[in-house]
Amino acid sequence: MEPYRIKVVEPIPMTTREQRESALARVHYNLFDLRADEVTIDLLTDSGTGALSAAQLAAAMTGDESYAGSRSYHRFHEAVQELTGYPHILPVHQGRAAERILFSTLLEPGQITLSNTHFDTTRANVELNGCQAQDLPCPQAQDLDSDEPFKGNVDLARLRAALEGPDASRIALVIMTLTNNGGGGQPVSMENLAQAAALCRANDVPLILDAARFAENAWLVTQHEPAYKHHSPRQVAEEAFRLADGCLMSAKKDGIVHIGGFLALNDGALAERCELLLIATEGFPTYGGLAGRDLDMIVQGLSEVTDPAYLQSRADAAGHLAHLSRAAGISILEPPGLHALYLNAGRLLPHIRPHHYPGHALACQLYLEGGIRSVELGSLYLGAEDADGNPSITAPYELLRLAIPRRTYTQSHLNYIGDVLEKVARNADRIPGYRIIEQAPMLRHFRSKLEPVTP
Ligand SMILES: *Cc1c(COP(=O)(O)O)cnc(C)c1O
Repeated sequence: MEPYRIKVVEPIPMTTREQRESALARVHYNLFDLRADEVTIDLLTDSGTGALSAAQLAAAMTGDESYAGSRSYHRFHEAVQELTGYPHILPVHQGRAAERILFSTLLEPGQITLSNTHFDTTRANVELNGCQAQDLPCPQAQDLDSDEPFKGNVDLARLRAALEGPDASRIALVIMTLTNNGGGGQPVSMENLAQAAALCRANDVPLILDAARFAENAWLVTQHEPAYKHHSPRQVAEEAFRLADGCLMSAKKDGIVHIGGFLALNDGALAERCELLLIATEGFPTYGGLAGRDLDMIVQGLSEVTDPAYLQSRADAAGHLAHLSRAAGISILEPPGLHALYLNAGRLLPHIRPHHYPGHALACQLYLEGGIRSVELGSLYLGAEDADGNPSITAPYELLRLAIPRRTYTQSHLNYIGDVLEKVARNADRIPGYRIIEQAPMLRHFRSKLEPVTP
């Protein structure tokens, strides 16, 4: 059961099938364009959508809104330094601001960054600086059905080959994403992280953690890596940060706040250069685009997020939803992580070809059937067509992500989702595909307009 009880509630919108049909047609079958009051269960993202604790709200009241040198900043600095060990800490309004500031300070055009998998904004910020982002996921990541516990690992052989190969002089940094969001929310083992760190050190390349879900990664390490069985999640997290030279953090995930993040570094000279950009574009270094109360809520959130009871219940929620999905006959990317479930829409809807977007078709059906909002991670997100509309790039898998916001939905909400999954799966062969009628040149899944393909 959830290790908390409810003190403040927010009604969720209840809609009729007719209302959902007309809403979906109005937004041209793009779920990002729905109004939140047309959504009953919102599984679009776990970013900034969690519930605050009473202690976080109390901390907000102690927020010091001084422009410079606030008490909130000093509490924030102390908490982040204790957790990470990094002495130089810059607050930012969210993770991608940390990416932009670090990469535009550190990267030169033509350089390369390596990662287990770059998250989409991380990749975009590398490319905006004229650099190339290369993903080196481990081979085990390719098997969606195996229950190998650390599919988020980097491929160490390819990492070594790249760091010692002909392009070695162009490699600017290595980014390890914990957990591997672009790779299905799968965790990275401490052994893999330590070996990646040793390779980086031997080749004099900085290692940066993209630490958005550091606590969820640490929890999975305590569960599945024998050497860490008797460690607390907090101890694992502290050790992980100390293997790297710095981190990028979106506190909207494992900070359990609605907005915030930070960039933390060992290198004082680099941090000083980043600070100049921070002042010009985010805010003075003691608030970085956040209010004092936001900083205090992050401090409290970081202390709550490694609580084993909280992490256990989060794993249980994902495990329960995974069970409901399998029972409905829908395969998932195994094993389930903590922040989301990835449904194998390609397998459920073999009659829909990739460029009619099985994942998106399933997303639309979950909305029509039960007012559930989710997001496709398949050929609508990763694919492309040529000028004549013929497929030119197809995603490796056609997935649908059900993100699980922190401390927000109860087990009976999950059971409701399970009922909707079952109804949708029962009539899977009648679900139509979709075609794009209008799209943006970049990150098209956010803005495209679609229509159902009638057979
Ligand atoms: C969310 C996320 C980011 C970007 O953070 P924002 O706060 O959304 O800007 C970067 N990396 C990973 C792994 C993320 O999940």
